[in-house]
Amino acid sequence: MALIVHKYGGTSVGSTERIKVVAERVVKAKKEGNSVVVVVSAQSGMTDKLIAMANEVNTDPHGREYDQLVSVGEQISAALLAMTIQNMGHKAISFTGGQVGILTDSAHTNARIQEIETNRVADELDQGNIVIVTGFQGVDIHGNITTLGRGGSDTSAVAIAAVLKADLCEIYTDVDGVYTADPRIVKDARKLEQISAEEMLEMANLGAKVLQSRSVEFASRYNVPLCVRSSFNYEPGTMIVQETDEMEEIKITGVTLARDQVRVNVFDLPDKPGIVAKIFKAVAVEGVNVDMIVQAKNARGGPDLSFTVEKAGAKKAQAAIEQITSELNATAPAIEENMAKVSAVGIGMRSHAGIAAEVFESLGDNGINIEMISTSEIKISCLINQDKAEQALRVLHSHFNLGEEPAKNA
Ligand code: ADP
Ligand code: ASP
Ligand code: MG
Repeated sequence: MALIVHKYGGTSVGSTERIKVVAERVVKAKKEGNSVVVVVSAQSGMTDKLIAMANEVNTDPHGREYDQLVSVGEQISAALLAMTIQNMGHKAISFTGGQVGILTDSAHTNARIQEIETNRVADELDQGNIVIVTGFQGVDIHGNITTLGRGGSDTSAVAIAAVLKADLCEIYTDVDGVYTADPRIVKDARKLEQISAEEMLEMANLGAKVLQSRSVEFASRYNVPLCVRSSFNYEPGTMIVQETDEMEEIKITGVTLARDQVRVNVFDLPDKPGIVAKIFKAVAVEGVNVDMIVQAKNARGGPDLSFTVEKAGAKKAQAAIEQITSELNATAPAIEENMAKVSAVGIGMRSHAGIAAEVFESLGDNGINIEMISTSEIKISCLINQDKAEQALRVLHSHFNLGEEPAKNA
């Protein structure tokens, strides 16, 4: 008998009709002889609505109360699914993250799972129950509810699969699998039968929200067989796998887009040791993640520093730096909003030269200005104006012929 974990995202549980469809899938898996754990997200739009309500009453809500509120969407889905399954004559029981011992750190709104107790889930499975667990949440050592960051139900599912040593973790969503680009933006995006965990991790980090990046990390670290598939059909989906030699023959596997990037520029800083550290420490203290960084000497000899953050953290970053620039009698930081980051990802970059030049040339030929660049061994990212974001994604997708099945030994 296999143990499998299913995770259903917001659209998949978006209505009571959809929940019935999910219940049928889950019961089918159980009838096939499997032990089944189901992790559910909030119904689509619910988490956004809860966040908007929080912001209506407080523009900077305390993390603890924010988590108390935004975690409730998952509880609704879990209880509704349990009731639906019971109504079909099968045994099911739903739990919150805290009830099944998902212990996290106390970093409210973006907590990390530290430990999961398996006893309760294992006991209920032994009694023949389909066990349903709310995604996106856990509790810290003080018993406070925490949430795992947007898209966190993927991570809940993979983490549960890891501790239970599940035979398979299936992420059910509203597209047929992982595509070469977001299929809602690039019409000829192609579904990948498989993708290496390393590429999937980069794509998730760079904006492909089909999986939360931490879920991919967990799957790799604990060898959880992971696949992404649709809850709307029975197509096989995409397996996340360890890299194979043939994969490196393909230059680029996918392209991604991250919107709502903000560039922070600090000009004419004093040219002495410790200044850059001071700036980034101040930003880190505010809990804001910095992405791309460029520092260069300007014509006057002083260093200019530019870096990007996500829109949500921009105001905090700006305020933190204003304090430092005023202490240093330097110019206040300038903020540029409405930027986006387009990236090309592929382990083939390791063995193919000149891919960066191809990316820059194809964007340039299409009148898309590159504002900043960052690279790693398997990705090239360019910061561009948000107005050109979707065009840039399509340009790169078509330049690398990602819509077509790659020729063998390309
Ligand atoms: P869920 O609610 O099921 O968790 P999400 O909305 O979080 O679903 O993720 C699925 C969405 O991810 C798809 O609807 C698609 O628009 C988007 N997406 C972005 N990039 C990709 C990609 N490369 N492949 C597949 N889907 C992608
Ligand atoms: N409901 C949460 C969100 O919208 C978590 C998830 O769907 O994975 O981000
Ligand atoms: Mg998601």
